[in-house]
Amino acid sequence: MTKKHSGSCKCGKVSFEVELANYNVTLCHCSDCQKISGSHFANIHHKGALAFKGEEYITEFDSSNWAKRAFCNIYGSNLYYKLKEAEGYSLAAGLFDDQSEFVLKTQYFIDKKPAYINIANASNNMTEAEIRAKYNF
Ligand SMILES: [Zn+2]
Repeated sequence: MTKKHSGSCKCGKVSFEVELANYNVTLCHCSDCQKISGSHFANIHHKGALAFKGEEYITEFDSSNWAKRAFCNIYGSNLYYKLKEAEGYSLAAGLFDDQSEFVLKTQYFIDKKPAYINIANASNNMTEAEIRAKYNF
């Protein structure tokens, strides 16, 4: 997949182009994602570095001891989740101009999902305990 995928925030001040290794979308239902995005956080991971246009419009903050998150400081678009110790970005799926090839692959913190949300797609669903065991935090 060497196709470039473009994305931007709502106001368009922050934008990027990225070559994605796959089109696997993860939905995270953890309380941080809910508080920050207003709902679950649908994201697609890019392993490498990424040059954003409009960096001056990006506000990045520590959301935990191990991760940072960022938003556009004009309209507040949720941009990404990023581990402090690793390169790569979990980019908000909704930023992408073309999501037609994206596939829901995994749901994290399925045990924290509000009861009113029922996603019918087949996906690999992981509880908080399973995630903590897998990623050792
Ligand atoms: Zn989360």
